Amino acid sequence: MIKDISNLQVKLQALLQTQQTLDNQGKIADYIPALAKVSANHIGVCVATIDGKIAGAGDHQVAFSIQSISKVFGLVMAMNRIGEDLWQRVNMEPSGQPFNSIIQLEWEKGIPRNPVINAGALLIADVLASHFSASKLAFLSFMRKLSGDESVYIDNNVYQSELSHGNRNAAMAYLMKSFGNIEAEIPDVLSQYFTQCSIAMSCEQLAKSLLFLANKGIDPRTKNVICSPKDAHRVNAILSTSGMYDQSGEFAFSIGLPAKSGVGGGIVAIVPNYGVICTWSPLLNKFGNSVVGTNLVASLAEKLGLSIYH
Ligand code: GLN
Repeated sequence: MIKDISNLQVKLQALLQTQQTLDNQGKIADYIPALAKVSANHIGVCVATIDGKIAGAGDHQVAFSIQSISKVFGLVMAMNRIGEDLWQRVNMEPSGQPFNSIIQLEWEKGIPRNPVINAGALLIADVLASHFSASKLAFLSFMRKLSGDESVYIDNNVYQSELSHGNRNAAMAYLMKSFGNIEAEIPDVLSQYFTQCSIAMSCEQLAKSLLFLANKGIDPRTKNVICSPKDAHRVNAILSTSGMYDQSGEFAFSIGLPAKSGVGGGIVAIVPNYGVICTWSPLLNKFGNSVVGTNLVASLAEKLGLSIYH
């Protein structure tokens, strides 16, 4: 693995150019008006390493809607808060279904397949809403602490849009509550979940925020213990098997990094003992993963020899 990133900046710039010349493939998330309005032309990439280096190109400092990338942070907060009890309420298996599928939930009696599909993230939102007195603020503070940046904010426009188009997520939450797997009131669970999805951050902020997962749970910049080494391992394992939804198998097969996508067009990929890659480009493939972002992570992983399976 290449540890020296001195000329990575140049590599990232060149990489972005190859992607910019590709025909626009994919589709912008249009399930809420606030996301449909985002320009499809944004493209950004950032690499942060555990030894403190940052290289970025394009729109890497422009904030975008982190959407499902927030599921990673919610999971860590819930693991820290309720420990092993969490795994009585959510499984750790790939779903093989789209991220917002409801179909498995009834067969499996309201236990979500994993914490990074919507059903699982709603369950996590319930854990946070039930175990923190000011859970939305606690989440925002966690994101600000991890990124080291107090300017990280909740995009209220996106939040309102999510709330008024949230029927499918509400349906999943009610179904889980009917099986006794949700403690809080459903509006509180949805408000928590949509707040998390509505956080706006840049590639650079996200890459820095996740360095602890590449460093056995310790934030390499502050030396703060964010989670135990065992939980960092568990999160990376879940991201490897489920983080790219029903494209996770192909992603592992061809790229080989724990990763998480969001419908805002962001992708984060963890490179254990090395660092974090974050990309942003809003056009999505049929799985809800950024087309260009997937290409960028693939090229970097190959060029730098980053796959965890080598
Ligand atoms: N807010 C989106 C939803 O709940 C998040 C999904 C995603 O980013 N994959 O449907």
